Amino acid sequence: MRIDIATLFPEMCERVFNESIVGRGIKNGFIEIYAHNIRGYSENKHKNVDDKAFGGGTGMVMQAQPIYDCVKAISALHKTPPRIIYLSPQGKTLTQETVRELAQENGLILICGHYEGVDERVIEELCAEEISVGDYVLTGGELPALILTDAVARLQAGVLPNEDAYSIESHFSGLLEYPQYSRPEVWKGRKVPKVLLSGDHKLVSEWQRKMSLEVTKRKRPDLYRAYIRKQTAGFIREFKKAQTLYNAEKFSTLKMTDEELKYVKRGKMRMFKAEKNKGEYVILTDTLGIPKFIILITGKTGNFVKFRLIYKPKKEENND
Ligand code: SAM
Repeated sequence: MRIDIATLFPEMCERVFNESIVGRGIKNGFIEIYAHNIRGYSENKHKNVDDKAFGGGTGMVMQAQPIYDCVKAISALHKTPPRIIYLSPQGKTLTQETVRELAQENGLILICGHYEGVDERVIEELCAEEISVGDYVLTGGELPALILTDAVARLQAGVLPNEDAYSIESHFSGLLEYPQYSRPEVWKGRKVPKVLLSGDHKLVSEWQRKMSLEVTKRKRPDLYRAYIRKQTAGFIREFKKAQTLYNAEKFSTLKMTDEELKYVKRGKMRMFKAEKNKGEYVILTDTLGIPKFIILITGKTGNFVKFRLIYKPKKEENND
């Protein structure tokens, strides 16, 4: 992949992308990153690149011509048409999902604005998409371009040691990562969770999965809710694919402890206390909201409901 940054401050960019992991990725030929000085393309004899804004205002506006010629010259260096992006506080906010999508491209050209911004016409003429790094305003597009470059570069094969290095990280699957610990085992009286020292890979990965959900729920309830919604929708899709017997359209949910879920799965629980009605389809989830089974309420006695287990995913069946 090739990334070109069009900027008034190429040295600022080069200093950053030539360092550390991305710098090693460039040296080892896994990615190409270049910074180009827009000023070099100015047709003005003094190499000016900005002028006062029509209609007044405090700051200067970057003119269209140098940016346009710079981007056109860089485009010609690409083997396939690159995706052109203007880093702008008015753009779509950068997410890991967008980063993953951009990482599939052969080439990107990133335009950095400065001062009051850039002449609108050049963005229109280049059909540049706008990407923001957040709802705040910086003095220039260089830091946003470097953020985007770093995030995209680390997903290129070879830049990180393997896919695990990024696929278990925060945001990749919609969740935040579990907490990490290193030596010593006890620091200022704080111990590393025992399970991480057990050497039992299954237990460790169960703990990591649980913590990942807990951390997301606590720190980013918005992400957690979106994740649960997605999991539940997928679960219902799988249920509908797997059976033709039940004409279930509406589902309610009910949280259960791991112990209770075990009883349900093994058929050792036939009734439980719940405010559910006969004929209701209920998705039983674990305490963190992950869907596990679907039951149909078959009867009611006082506060207790009787039910039939009508769906357990293949993975659960195999764990019996
Ligand atoms: N006048 C512009 C506005 O209000 O929308 C802001 C211009 S800003 C001071 C100068 C340049 O910094 C922009 O052209 C853009 O390239 C970059 N920039 C500032 N904040 C940014 C953000 N949150 N995301 C991406 N780029 C940003």
